[in-house]
Amino acid sequence: MLIRYRGDMQQFVSMEEAFGAIEEHASKRLIETIRVPLPEAVGRVLAEPAIAKLSIPPFNNSARDGVLLSSAGIVAAREGQPLTLAGELRAGDTIETAENLLGDAARIMTGAPVPSWGAAIVMIEDVALTDDGHVTVNTLPDLGAWIRPQGSDIAAGRDIFKPGRRIIPEHVQALASSGVVELAVHRKPRVGICSTGEELVDLASGPPGSGQIYDSNRPFMNAMMRSFGCDVVVNEHVGDTLDEMVGFLRRAMDASLDLVISSGAVSMGSYDFVKPALEAVGAQIIFHKVTQKPGKPLLFAILPNGTLYFGLPGNPVSTVVNCRFYVHYALGVMQQKPLETPIKLRLDRDIEKPEGLAVFLKAQCLRGKGGAMVRALEGQESFQTQPLLEMNGWIVLSEHLGSMQAGDMVNFYPANPRGLPDIF
Ligand code: AMP
Ligand code: MG
Repeated sequence: MLIRYRGDMQQFVSMEEAFGAIEEHASKRLIETIRVPLPEAVGRVLAEPAIAKLSIPPFNNSARDGVLLSSAGIVAAREGQPLTLAGELRAGDTIETAENLLGDAARIMTGAPVPSWGAAIVMIEDVALTDDGHVTVNTLPDLGAWIRPQGSDIAAGRDIFKPGRRIIPEHVQALASSGVVELAVHRKPRVGICSTGEELVDLASGPPGSGQIYDSNRPFMNAMMRSFGCDVVVNEHVGDTLDEMVGFLRRAMDASLDLVISSGAVSMGSYDFVKPALEAVGAQIIFHKVTQKPGKPLLFAILPNGTLYFGLPGNPVSTVVNCRFYVHYALGVMQQKPLETPIKLRLDRDIEKPEGLAVFLKAQCLRGKGGAMVRALEGQESFQTQPLLEMNGWIVLSEHLGSMQAGDMVNFYPANPRGLPDIF
């Protein structure tokens, strides 16, 4: 890995270098593949292609309640002749039953098999039925109308779903109908989370006393890791002592985790003991500090047992940014997910930005005159959480860029990396 050496700031890296270092280490720690029943696969990442067992539709069937006509039936209908109904076909009738029903017209229900003589279906609204079993067609159908051909949606035997996708309920719908009853997915990543700070009060033990604040990072990290499809196996708060932090690291190592994140105590304060604690247990520090805002003191290390470790700075927005981007990226690499690509959007107002620092800005994608646009919200300091309630994503500007003007194109990442934001 290339790390730029800058005097005493030896482990200081750029945003690109940080992603590169994470990729290098996370790709050596791929999470194993397991097979799970289809409904249990939701939220997990597909590890092997899924093959369709059945075609969809599995047989030619009716898309509407109506009347099935043969080619001769269509000709007769064009001449205005009433047709004799040969019978009725319902969903669940066998294909044999359908084939045995001979004639030029038959009542047919949605989902019923279409016999080989069937040429088109007329919707029930477009026919007149008589009590003596005849039908007059009021609107002539095109050939093949309302017949769903076998295999027109999904063809049996096809590799229909590529690895690297996180499974959502909509996927279950398509996979279930094509007979995929189980899937090869990555095991859920096992993660540990820890907040540090004497000033913190657990949500369940509030309200905070004098000089105290609620611990918001820990519930956030817990929620975020679960939303990334992880099992949160270790979940602790530690005070501001080296011993307590070392104790947490030892428990984390005993729990055979894939990844650990802590918040706080990675800056330059007198109580910033995460790095010394990591060194005390023999971890390898890969980088400490990234030329970015917010969340500059981010630390990335490998524990002696191989677990990835992220020391996130404690300011709430720094924790959110570093989880959303770096931790999410590491989990993606470990599950062989393709690289996330930003959405390019036009700025609806100017952004002031220093060169030499990458920035992550709480942003809102909104409806502009010429389509979707994006705006950096007010309140970008790393303690300011109110914009998190308004935003639907992040504007990310690399360290090479300077200030931007309204109309410039920028990279936008949805807050929810699993899909497009709830934009409008
Ligand atoms: P630190 O990174 O420990 O120096 O903390 C930086 C700032 O973030 C301080 O104002 C802390 O009080 C605050 N902070 C640290 N951890 C948390 C947490 N878990 N929840 C809320 N705020 C925190
Ligand atoms: Mg602290």
